[in-house]
Amino acid sequence: MSSHDEDGSKQGPATRLVRTGRDPALTGPFVNPPVVHASTVLFPNVDMMAPGAQKYAYGRRGTPTSDGLETAISELENAEGTVLCPSGLSAVSTALLAILSAGDHLLMADNVYEPARHIAVTTLARLGIRTTFFDPTLGSEIASLMEPETKAVYVESPGSLTFEMTDIPAIAAAAHARGAYVLTDNTWATPYFFKPLDHGADISIQAGTKYLSGHSDVMIGTLAANDAVWKAVKNTHGNLGLCVGPDDIYLANRGLRTMGIRLDRQMQSALTVARWLEQRPEVKRLLHPAMPSDPGHAIWKRDMKGASGLFGIVMDGWSEDKTKAFLNGLGLFGLGYSWGGFESLAIPAKIHRTATSWEAGGPTIRLHVGLEEPADLIADLEQSFARIGNLA
Ligand SMILES: *Cc1c(COP(=O)(O)O)cnc(C)c1O
Repeated sequence: MSSHDEDGSKQGPATRLVRTGRDPALTGPFVNPPVVHASTVLFPNVDMMAPGAQKYAYGRRGTPTSDGLETAISELENAEGTVLCPSGLSAVSTALLAILSAGDHLLMADNVYEPARHIAVTTLARLGIRTTFFDPTLGSEIASLMEPETKAVYVESPGSLTFEMTDIPAIAAAAHARGAYVLTDNTWATPYFFKPLDHGADISIQAGTKYLSGHSDVMIGTLAANDAVWKAVKNTHGNLGLCVGPDDIYLANRGLRTMGIRLDRQMQSALTVARWLEQRPEVKRLLHPAMPSDPGHAIWKRDMKGASGLFGIVMDGWSEDKTKAFLNGLGLFGLGYSWGGFESLAIPAKIHRTATSWEAGGPTIRLHVGLEEPADLIADLEQSFARIGNLA
């Protein structure tokens, strides 16, 4: 950045997405950072091989390519530091392993990404870490679930598949009062719409595979930490030997520059599609915190600056066969996991609960609205509704 551009704090979020992480001292005069393929780094003499004497020492420990994206994410998340992980899930496991030790207790919201639950009940359980799942709509009442050994509270707001909002500031206040850390999965909102660390969280995780990369062609995770936990995160990430290939970092960095306009458009298109769906007799309920009818709307409005293109619909009393026929009949919505790319997607949602029950009155479908014209997406949904007609 040129000298008159150093104070980005007064600039708006779209400007920061363009400017951040582009220090010419690091990346040269090029608009995009160089893609450095490196394992070995050479030193001019033996003295320079001492730890810390030279900025770059080994490919796994950082390159100008990884530094560029880490700096950008730290700025966007208002974090002390960021590490890059080879997938969103590895960012989740790294965060948990950085904070928790044998004998510790973890509180995990009941609506988080299913593989995150799986880490807790398998790997963490094996290491002697206990997990209690809790109702994600609990706010400060979470204090009643805290035990002397509770070291962390893990939340995702809105939650995967069911989209309940969690009151992160209330959870953070209760957790910090008892000496526990708050870990958040911020994949849905991204730091463009929500900065968890500004609302009391200690760690913000993003599956950069989703909106950051934005083109369904990269696996990457980001783990941004505040000063209370940054050293532990950096050490654990280093010990686990995690790093991301430079081509994938490059693509994520490239995606970052257009993430704002993609999200702005996908939010609007998703709301257009959601408003149309809300009027349909087949739809019992919408799961979308930016819709005024949603029970989490007040928290969403208070904390977040926008909504992404991912939401759910509960089908009114539909059978599994009818749900399948509807999904099979879609043309523009692809059937596929993951989301955050430019294309629209649909999946049947398999909801797994242990602390709460999920009885919505029908099967749930998750939709990801991409960059197609909303009118075309609505026409696609309409033709599939018409095609299944009066199927039982
Ligand atoms: C996809 C996803 C992840 C995992 O990301 P991967 O890159 O697929 O490993 C984690 N959390 C949430 C909320 C996700 O949607």
